[in-house]
Amino acid sequence: MKKLAKLTLVLALAFAMAFTFAACGGGSSSEDAASSAASGSAAGASLTATEGELHMATNAAFPPYEMTTDDGGFEGIDVEIATELAKKLDLELVVDDMDFAAVLTAVQSGKSDIAMAGLTVTEERKKNVDFTDTYAKGVQSIIVKEGSDIKGPDDLKGKKIGCQEGTTGYIYCADDFGEDSVNSYNNGATAVQALVGDKVDAVVIDNNPAKEFVKANDGLILLDTAYAEEDYAIGVSKDNPELTKAVNDALKELIEDGTVDKIVQKYIKAE
Ligand code: GLN
Repeated sequence: MKKLAKLTLVLALAFAMAFTFAACGGGSSSEDAASSAASGSAAGASLTATEGELHMATNAAFPPYEMTTDDGGFEGIDVEIATELAKKLDLELVVDDMDFAAVLTAVQSGKSDIAMAGLTVTEERKKNVDFTDTYAKGVQSIIVKEGSDIKGPDDLKGKKIGCQEGTTGYIYCADDFGEDSVNSYNNGATAVQALVGDKVDAVVIDNNPAKEFVKANDGLILLDTAYAEEDYAIGVSKDNPELTKAVNDALKELIEDGTVDKIVQKYIKAE
């Protein structure tokens, strides 16, 4: 890890010098190169596992936070905020798409730089990764079929509940109703298909994805009563406090100048 960081720094410095020479027609002094390394793209690049890139671990089946586009790209609130973060750090965003249950491990192992996946801050997760400030709120909500006798969280007792593996929804339901009551799925879309196919009686999932899934599937409704309220933040490896600080500083700027709000409003229409 240390070795890699050193190598990255060396590469970053080399890059900065080459860049400065190119920009100034080859006539720059080494002082210029050093100051460029400290303030410019190279400083950002040295923070991440792959030079020049910011790898975001996510599960791109979680609209409106992250989803795939028809041409094989990625979009959504988290993807756009991460794109702006990367820009501020002079890095290029790369989306590492995986099951939600893998995103924290990807960051812990250094495979990805940040976890951004409508990721809820919990005390348990804080033991494994560092979190930035919060940038959005989530609510665990309940989806049922029209005509269901489930009207609120208490009615989930004795029912089969579909959740995504490794999510807070799964953890709360397993705690409250027992693991045997919960079926876990790789992503929200498959959990919702299980509800459509009567394999489960309800799905517990974050409210904004829930709204999207209800819109996309006839015969489903979203219950008004919230199951739990939570905060979303970005997870970063505990081994890389510099990156946590850099990402958090950039995030603060994007919150303060209204960029985050603008992105959220683009995807979530005011009701
Ligand atoms: N907010 C939930 C969690 O962090 C679900 C996130 C997700 O499924 N992408 O566990």
